[in-house]
Amino acid sequence: MATTTWTRRHILSLADFAPTEYDTVLQTAASFREVLSRRTKKVPTLQGQMVANLFFEPSTRTRSSFELAAKRLSADVLNFTPGTSSLTKGETILDTAKTYLAMGTDMMVIRHREAGVPQAIAFEMDRLGVRVGVLNAGDGQHEHPSQGLLDLFTICSLIDVEHPRLELLVGKKIAIVGDILHSRVARSNIWSLTATGAKVHLAGPPTLVPQLFAQSVTGRPGELFIHWEVEPALKDADFVMTLRLQKERMTAHLLPSLREYHQRYGITRDRLKLCHPDVKVLHPGPVNRGVEITSDLMDDPQFSLISQQVTSGVAVRMALLYLMGSGKT
Ligand code: ASP
Repeated sequence: MATTTWTRRHILSLADFAPTEYDTVLQTAASFREVLSRRTKKVPTLQGQMVANLFFEPSTRTRSSFELAAKRLSADVLNFTPGTSSLTKGETILDTAKTYLAMGTDMMVIRHREAGVPQAIAFEMDRLGVRVGVLNAGDGQHEHPSQGLLDLFTICSLIDVEHPRLELLVGKKIAIVGDILHSRVARSNIWSLTATGAKVHLAGPPTLVPQLFAQSVTGRPGELFIHWEVEPALKDADFVMTLRLQKERMTAHLLPSLREYHQRYGITRDRLKLCHPDVKVLHPGPVNRGVEITSDLMDDPQFSLISQQVTSGVAVRMALLYLMGSGKT
């Protein structure tokens, strides 16, 4: 297990993550991947601690992944479902969080459709002077740090499975294609990938890839390029991240049609020929098959890292819960 001291109480954003923090997460996740390959996949690390999964917005993989990660660490887990909760009776989100606090929650994993909710709850926990860690599991269009970290772990593990580390990304070309504007996954990935010398190329229609993203990384070691055509982003790319078109977040007519989007920006076998011959494709899921990526490519293990991302997710989330909870044991 990584020995570096972990001082961060909450994990809300990757914007201010230090290289040593990335490396600690990557090394710790590699140790937990080893645990998950054993016959007995459970360790007593968080025995007696309680993790509350407060998902105010629907989720399949992130919620299950955090639940499994907490259970593999022997924590007790409480799952909150908004539809059947007192939210329907007008309870505020902060009061919901305080209810879980009163039950003895040690860590809260929070997903909300509005940006800033996990920060607000973390702020309230600090104001109350309680040692509860808050983990952002996706807030609006803002960030999805555990997804950024699991993508990083998946990529670095492919390059060096034994010692995944940030420096492996130096000089790599990574294309992020699709609905960048609405994607919290893209935002978290931009922070992690530019924390080292990677070259990140964003591609998509001008309505979904605003130029202002280019300014966000000024002064960081990596570089960021913006393209409104997909081909220059794919040229010689080592990794391609495709993103779901977030129809639920689109408030205007930002796209001509899904068919036209696929024709211009969809990831297809033909387009992948532009990339490095060993290119790999990632997608955070859920996938609109045949829109952002062709269905057969998504299932082709020669190119697709999608199931590895899901598997990596459990080890990475175990690492995050372990690091946040380690100060308490
Ligand atoms: N599952 C990811 C998220 O929650 C990506 C997506 O929904 O498209 O942001």
